[in-house]
Formats: sequence, C-alpha cells, structure tokens
Amino acid sequence: MTGWWTAEIQYMKGVGSVKASLLAKLGVFTVGDLLEQYPRRYEDRTRLTSIRELTEGQAETFRAVVVSIDESTPRRGMSIIKITVRDSTGLALLTWFNQPYIKRCYKPGMELIVFGRVQRRYHTEIVNPEIEVLSSDEPVGAIVPVYPAADNIGQRWLRTLKRQALDGAQEMAGEWEVLPPAVVARYQLLGYLEALENIHFPQTPDKLAKARRRLVFEELFVLQCGLAFQRQNNKLNFLGMKHAPDGALVKEIEQRLPFALTEDQQQVLHEIKMDMEDVTSMQRLVQGDVGSGKTVLAALALVKTVENGFQGALMAPTEILADQHVQTLTQLLANTGVRLAGLTGKMTKRLRGELLTQIKNGAMDIVVGTHALIQDTVEFKHLGMVVTDEQHRFGVQQRAKLQAKGNKPDVLVMTATPIPRTMALTVYGDLDVSVIRQLPPGRKPVKTHVRGSDRRSLVYKFVLDEVLKGRQAYIVCPLVEGSDKVEAQSAVDLFQTLSATYFQQVACGLVHGRLKGADKDAVMKGFYQGDIKILVATTVIEVGVNVPNASVMVIEGAERFGLAQLHQLRGRIGRGEYQSHCILLSDNKSQEAMERLAIMATTSDGFLLAEQDLTLRGAGQLFGTRQHGLPDLKIADIVKDVDILLEARQAATETVAVPERFAALRSVLANRLGERFGMIFHS
Ligand code: ADP
Ligand code: MG
Repeated sequence: MTGWWTAEIQYMKGVGSVKASLLAKLGVFTVGDLLEQYPRRYEDRTRLTSIRELTEGQAETFRAVVVSIDESTPRRGMSIIKITVRDSTGLALLTWFNQPYIKRCYKPGMELIVFGRVQRRYHTEIVNPEIEVLSSDEPVGAIVPVYPAADNIGQRWLRTLKRQALDGAQEMAGEWEVLPPAVVARYQLLGYLEALENIHFPQTPDKLAKARRRLVFEELFVLQCGLAFQRQNNKLNFLGMKHAPDGALVKEIEQRLPFALTEDQQQVLHEIKMDMEDVTSMQRLVQGDVGSGKTVLAALALVKTVENGFQGALMAPTEILADQHVQTLTQLLANTGVRLAGLTGKMTKRLRGELLTQIKNGAMDIVVGTHALIQDTVEFKHLGMVVTDEQHRFGVQQRAKLQAKGNKPDVLVMTATPIPRTMALTVYGDLDVSVIRQLPPGRKPVKTHVRGSDRRSLVYKFVLDEVLKGRQAYIVCPLVEGSDKVEAQSAVDLFQTLSATYFQQVACGLVHGRLKGADKDAVMKGFYQGDIKILVATTVIEVGVNVPNASVMVIEGAERFGLAQLHQLRGRIGRGEYQSHCILLSDNKSQEAMERLAIMATTSDGFLLAEQDLTLRGAGQLFGTRQHGLPDLKIADIVKDVDILLEARQAATETVAVPERFAALRSVLANRLGERFGMIFHS
C-alpha cells in the first residue's frame, strides 16, 4: 500500500496546485487522507422522490429540469434568485438570498439533482438547496456519496478523484489490511479494500452498512490497541516508585483535617495508598462529582510521597485553581517543614528562575502549577507523585509529559466530569478508576430555577437580597464559542451594566480569560475574602473554585452551555451551610433548549447529566481533540457505535497480549497512521 497511501494529492491526475490547496483546507493532503475523507451523506438515486411527493419539513432529494431563472432586488443591496424547476409531476422553486452569482451557474434545460429542506405552502420551495448538475455520463440509478466540500470543489469532481484513488488502491497489492485475519474472521468484517470501495460507492444499502461497520471497527480497534498497549506497559513497569506504609507525617496531616472523610473518600484513599505502596507504578483516575472532596485526597497522596523523600507535583488547568490549591495545601501543611510553591505563567523571571533551581536540586517538596509545570525548563530531582486535577481539561499528552518528568512516578488523575462508561473506555482506557459518589454530609442540594430574561430584574433583585443577607453570588456570562476576546468583551459589558444599575450599592468584581494574572488574582482574592460580593465571570470559574459563602449563581444564556458544563458551574455553589440557588436565564424557547434546562432543574446527578448530554448533543461535543488529546474519530461515533466499541476493545486486548501479533500490527499501523501513530502509541 505504502507509496499510494502516502502519495501527495498534487500528483494525482487532475489535481494541480490550486485544487491541492483547496483540498488542504479540508485537511486532505495525501491519497490516504482522501480515502479517509468519508461521505457526509448519501443520495439514494435509485429511489428519488418526485416533486408531487415531496414532504413538508423533510430534507429530500429529487431530480428536475430548470425551467426559468429570475432575479429580483426588493431593496438596494438585496438580491433574491428564484429558479423554477419541473419534473413530470409538478413545479418547484429553488430560492437563494444574496447570492447573485447563482444565476450564472444554471441554464434552462439543465438537469439537476436537488437536495434540501422542503417547504410546501403556496409553492413547493427549497431555500438554499444543494444542487448538482447532472451530466450525461453520470450514474443515475446509484447510491451517490456527498462529501464535505469547500467552495470551488464540486461533488462530481471529488467523486472522480475518489474513484481514481480507489482504483489506484486496488492495483496496489500488499498490506492494506490492518486487522489481524483472525479478527476479521471472528467478527465477520469486510476486507479493508472492499469496505473502502463501498463506503464511497456503495453497491447496495446493505453493503454500505457492512462497510461502515468494518471501518468503525477498525478505527476503534486501533485506538483501543493504543490504550491496551499503554495499560500493559504500565503494568509491566516493575521499576515504579514504591512508597512505604504511612509514617508520622501522613498520620499527623490526617489528624489535622477539619472533617472526617466520607466513606467513599476513605475507600478511594485506601486504593491510592495501596497503589503507591506497590512497586507497580500507579495509574489511577479518581472520578468524583463536583464538591465531593477530591483535593484532600490529592493532598494526602502528595504528603505521602514527600514523607518517602520524593517530590510531588500537582497540575491544575487554570491559574485561579492552582492558586487555590496552593492556599489549601499551605494551610494544611503549616509547620510541618514541607516546602511548597506555586508555579504559574505569571511569575517574574527571577522568582521563576529561583524556583526552578529549587525544584531541580530537591529543595522544593511540592510544586503546584498550571501548564507551566510541563515546560521543558522544569526539571525535578526525584518526582514520586504526579497529580492532574480536572484532567478533562488536559490532553493525554500533557498528562504523559508531566509524568515523564520523573522516573516512573505514581500518577493520580482527578476529574469532576463524570464520564459515561463508553467515554471512559475510550478516553481513559489506560487507567484504573476510583469513584467518589457521596458528597460530604450536611450539604443542601442546590435549588435550580429556569427563567426567561423578561424576569431578569426580579432575578437580580433576588440576588441583591441574598447579598444583603451576607451571601455572595456569581453571574456567569453567556458562552461565546471560539472567541476569548468577544467573550471577554461581553463580560465587561455585563459587568458595567450591572454594577451601574442593579448592584450599584454592593462591591462587584469581574474575571475573564483575557485578564492579566495580577488583576485576576486581586479579584479572586477579593471574592475569597468576601470583600467582593458579586462576581461577574466567564467560564474561567467553571473548575474548582471553592467559596462556601457563595450561594447564588445566575447563568446568562444558559441554553448555550452543555449540561455537563452547567453542572460544573452550578458546582461552585452549594458548598456551605446555606441554601443555594442557581438561576438559568434563557430566551431560547425551542423545545430542545427547554427540555435540557428542565433536566438541570430536576437532577443534580452529574453522571446522569453527562449521559443526557451525550445523547442530546452527540459525542462530538464532549469528544473534541482539545479535551483528551486523542486523534479525532473519522467515522466512529462512540455513542451510537458502543456495541462495536466493546467488540473492538475485546479484540484489541487480545491482540496486544500476544507480542508477535502486536509486533505485526505495529508496522502496518505506523504506516497507515503516520503522525497519528505517535499520538496513540506513546509510552
Ligand atoms: P472537588 O471534588 O470538587 O475538587 P473539593 O476538594 O474542592 O471538591 O472539596 C469541596 C469542599 O468540601 C472543600 O471546602 C473541602 O474542604 C470540603 N470537604 C472535602 N471533604 C469533606 C468531608 N469529608 N467533610 C466535609 N467537608 C469536606
Ligand atoms: Mg477540585
């Protein structure tokens, strides 16, 4: 396969540098990329609808001939193109707004395949349809692939190119098959080339389904092999750190805790200690809902490593959280002689330099920091314990990088994002898992209310009342996806409005992602100390922040957030003795939005919410590369394909367990995956 798979797309027939750069925008650089760019949908042209049978509200495909093309300009700067088309059963209108160039693309008499959402009122009309002009050599009675495309790349041209790539593959004998023959046979999978052929140009719907199953299986199998490989490596690492049973220091700190650990905490702490005292290096994930008390377990693990003469590192995703951990630990470790420091991006160069030296020569016992911890300049003398807090905010590689700063240190990973089982198998498939389900005693469940923004002034008045009673409040700004800058600006606006009107008489603060380190510190300190009563914030406060006196949270534009994220945010309140209230403001009256918010109001179970999120919004939302550092899935959907996932996991575990089998797989995979190989099989 080798040459053809990695061949650059430019050198294919019909692809010059212009087309190549358009394809590059779609992430297609090589023939392999092209073959793995799967259809977005299919048109079953063996079963086209006629115009008379089109159904209102449905996305449909039909074949028709252009009758006439009209443009109107109802006002200056506005253009409407209407193309009338017909088939033997009737007429339909295709409409485009403000795309005047459309009129030059079509001529009366042209035969089209039209796809779009049908409106049937006075006319049968499709706004902004996808169109393909049929040519005489086009296969008509077939299932036709439709690809993700960019402007200036036509579907027909893409199809020709795919055909060329597939024909090239068929000619190129050799190692196309990644899956071990035994696996192909046992799970009754199509061969690779047959699957590839049928995912692009399916002969029948049945063949298409089989092709998809095969490719999904392969994708998940490869990923699971990577995870199984890491799991196995971890287990085989007999040279890990071995910690001694608890000594005076750990016992002293445990006595100092201002509360008794819950049963779940005790159980998980026991699991952590057993792992630490074992020679095998620990690789453990602690899942616990927001507020379940994970920090204290991390603290005890760090103390235990220090007691054994090692150093400990704790990495958190935000400066705010890192600072908070420094404070918590400083209090807990006062007068024990344990040396502790924070390492974040905002330190001066001089202080940072001094700290790096102390870390390197062993004069610092525990270092708490942000991503700053995994920079190359940070070197430890003898790292024994590595903790990543809020792991879902980091990638797998970042965790690995921190771990690599020591010689097989024990690793503890904490997350408050409850991960549904299927996700856990995929994202954290290489870890042992501990779960804290209980919340510490005495917590009052947060009351959650959903309100339209016409009730805004009442809501603010309620906030003010609570504040005047001595409580504190968060006002969370709407989510602006993809733009820190716009989000920060909207936070500034909201802050200015609120502090000049409703909350004129109380101290308000503002935090967002664009704020400088020192300014952020000052505001957070003010809020921790209770000088600031109302904190206007973006999602920077989503993780970890712990201010027990804060008992009210208003979330603006709540429908824009995922359920898991709303749950995280809401976890900032309900941490003290007061009855807390979370108010979800939303103007979106769509049924879907209302349903989602209603779920928030009725449940406080993070696992349930995460499952709901997954079913409502699909895996993509939770499974972005950003969150876990694994390659994007090209065809598998871990929610819908969970049955295949379980099979693939089984097959992977069996394959990796036999060295010869895995060795054979490795070379084929390295070839097929290119750079992604390193992402999946790092150790
Ligand atoms: P999370 O799991 O969300 O990181 P934290 O570790 O921040 O939660 O704990 C939340 C709060 O609960 C903290 O104020 C912590 O001191 C407190 N806490 C933790 N464990 C207990 C316990 N067993 N009993 C009472 N309070 C506890
Ligand atoms: Mg925490």
